Amino acid sequence: MSLLTYDEALRQLLAGARPLMEIESLNTFDALGRVLAAAQISTIAVPPLDNSAMDGYALRCADVPAPGARLAVAQRIPAGSVGHTLAPGTAARIFTGAPIPAGADAVVMQEMCEIDNDGSKPGGSQVTINHVPHAGEWIRRAGEDIRASAVVLCAGTRLFAPQLGLAASVGIAVLPVFRRLRVALFSTGNELVMPGEMDASALPPGAIYNSNRFLLRGLLQQLGCQVSDLGIVPDNLAATRKALRKAAADNDLILTSGGVSVGEEDHVKPAVEAEGELALWKIAIKPGKPLAFGHVGNSDSQTAFIGLPGNPVSCLVTFLMLVRPFILKAQGALEQLFHPMTLRADFELPRTDPRREFLRARRDRSGKLDLFPNQSSGVLTSTVWADGLIDNPPGNSIRRGDLVSFLPFSDLLY
Ligand code: AMP
Ligand code: MG
Repeated sequence: MSLLTYDEALRQLLAGARPLMEIESLNTFDALGRVLAAAQISTIAVPPLDNSAMDGYALRCADVPAPGARLAVAQRIPAGSVGHTLAPGTAARIFTGAPIPAGADAVVMQEMCEIDNDGSKPGGSQVTINHVPHAGEWIRRAGEDIRASAVVLCAGTRLFAPQLGLAASVGIAVLPVFRRLRVALFSTGNELVMPGEMDASALPPGAIYNSNRFLLRGLLQQLGCQVSDLGIVPDNLAATRKALRKAAADNDLILTSGGVSVGEEDHVKPAVEAEGELALWKIAIKPGKPLAFGHVGNSDSQTAFIGLPGNPVSCLVTFLMLVRPFILKAQGALEQLFHPMTLRADFELPRTDPRREFLRARRDRSGKLDLFPNQSSGVLTSTVWADGLIDNPPGNSIRRGDLVSFLPFSDLLY
């Protein structure tokens, strides 16, 4: 069995990820969490016209050479209506978002103006301008956000709330997106019991609750995958092979947890080998050393297979560091990797490890990092206490004040 670096394992996984081809048209309302399949171009300029950034008075700067100038309020322009050319010596009562009338070259905000009667009655009222504006003040220029025919979203963009808002702002009501990646999930382990199935008091010795099922299902859903959850598969070859065939039938990826070590209770390797092809990797990372990668099926129809280790923290770390990039690539996303932050350690880690370690840590208010005391691969509390992972190179001890590389969960979970 080969020992791989993380980078090599990631390279091989990404090389094996085949991007989806099927495209669906979705109402922009329904496209949250999807990956855009084609670039989107704006047919309009945003904003479409020069408009006011404030409630106030549109005027000609030349008419206000000094504070205290008085102008006749000759028109009123609320958002959604258009005024007419501003005569010299007059002002237009204007509201945020309303088009600037021809002839006006600035807006003075209402807090700097005094109206001599009710300004809502055009005609008689006069306004005193207590501020000398500069040309362009409080005017939002046509096209300052988006030019007509500009690309607003690239193909491969993941669609979150801001992307949907931007598409809507240029009038795009339907978006082409890749279909969801279909992922089959199962947990291996005779010791596993589902919460709700058995009371804690009735749990037989040796049994544990299945946490990976919840963990992986949630991680997959947060990435926009369509999950087929096949539940718990007992530790024997026949059951594992049967589950693999079922999982392969209608999915793009099969993801499992547990059973990828090389003990005689680990049936994932022989089962995948019997149903397809598999490489069992030992990756030089901690946690998460064993990982299986291959496919189920023959050359006509293949479903990718990734087998994660059973320890829940190993399961989480290998998912975030390896499966997530694989899924994002398969899903058509342009960017699959993450950008670590450089932060200062507020702890000591005198021990070293020959493997690259992903340590559970969290930031304090000043951005310094604290380490969860128990870094064991079964301790799920570390993943809830922490708000990210320190990516610590092999053989590196950490001293208080050292700069370390930090991957926030907020970047990795979506
Ligand atoms: P394995 O990789 O199957 O040897 O499992 C390694 C460790 O992870 C063992 O302590 C298992 O009991 C535990 N484990 C495996 N699967 C799960 C699961 N779905 N939920 C919680 N713990 C698990
Ligand atoms: Mg097991």
